[in-house]
Amino acid sequence: MGGFDYEVIILGSGPAGLQAAIHAARAKVSVAILGREAKSSISGAHVENFCCLGKTDGGTLLDAGRNQAKSFGTVFLDEDVIETSRDDNGFVVKTESGSELRCGALILAMGISRKKLKVPGEKELLGKGVSYCVDCDANFFRNEKVAVVGDESAAGSGALTLLMYADEVHLITRSLNVTDELAYQVNESAVMVHQDTWVKEIEGQHKVEGLVLENGERLCVSGVFIELGAKGAIELAAKLGVALDSENFEYIVADKKQATNVPGVFAAGDICGPPWQVAKAVGEGCVAGLEAAAWVKKLR
Ligand SMILES: Cc1cc2nc3c(=O)[nH]c(=O)nc-3n(C[C@H](O)[C@H](O)[C@H](O)COP(=O)(O)OP(=O)(O)OC[C@H]3O[C@@H](n4cnc5c(N)ncnc54)[C@H](O)[C@@H]3O)c2cc1C
Repeated sequence: MGGFDYEVIILGSGPAGLQAAIHAARAKVSVAILGREAKSSISGAHVENFCCLGKTDGGTLLDAGRNQAKSFGTVFLDEDVIETSRDDNGFVVKTESGSELRCGALILAMGISRKKLKVPGEKELLGKGVSYCVDCDANFFRNEKVAVVGDESAAGSGALTLLMYADEVHLITRSLNVTDELAYQVNESAVMVHQDTWVKEIEGQHKVEGLVLENGERLCVSGVFIELGAKGAIELAAKLGVALDSENFEYIVADKKQATNVPGVFAAGDICGPPWQVAKAVGEGCVAGLEAAAWVKKLR
């Protein structure tokens, strides 16, 4: 298998990722899928416009897809990816628990994040100290005091990354919901964790000057990284050199074969842009799965 842990690795276990897994695994290549079912946009929603099923709920749909993908040999790793990089003839995926997995083809199916903090100062100070991307902007905060806000893997790993740049790193979290390994790394590090609280307001006239927390604390910081959820297209795909759309700079550009501009990297589902529909996600997932399988067979 060319030294790969899995020939195809899929980031995202929503409808797009599951369909990609079903088609790739049926084409007899080894497949692993990462991500959390409960974090799919369709989890908890009702669906009535997906062909052949009538009314159903997202959880039922996802469970069925997972069982199907498993039956064809897909390995499920229920954790987030925090870093992706290229190596000689493939890609390396670093997970929340610290594993490094090598593969010949990557399928990006991480969906989209619709989350904002929705607090005073967030919109006004965007680009003036407020950022949604540690990997893109950490370097601008060398030797400064910064805060990261979030409960999941992007916040935990983002805070650790910022330690390499900033003088002081605060993590504001209601409760850190990450793997034991990542929680341990954060707790053992110099990151100052403010648990059981949240941001009430981002202060500053022309740039970020501080944060007011719900517990009444005031933090003097010049940067606030809002990292709600897991890392998405901008942080994981753009870092690999995968092109994003020139208008919004948030969706992945893929061709009719769901191939991106980086050979061996495919994308499917909401991450490729609207319409945000399960039917589109599974259609693109099918193509991405087949194309990724064909790609890695050529590497054998
Ligand atoms: C309230 C609501 C109702 C909806 N109703 C309908 C409907 O009736 N009909 C319809 O067709 N569509 C509906 N949609 C849209 C539908 O949910 C999406 O189009 C569909 O889920 C997209 O699938 P996806 O696989 O691209 O992304 P998602 O389903 O969002 O899955 C993304 C996956 O990526 C994973 N992930 C994210 N980041 C990482 C990371 N760093 N590492 C590893 N994994 C990661 C997540 O854990 C998740 O498993 C609705 C959406 C919402 C929010």
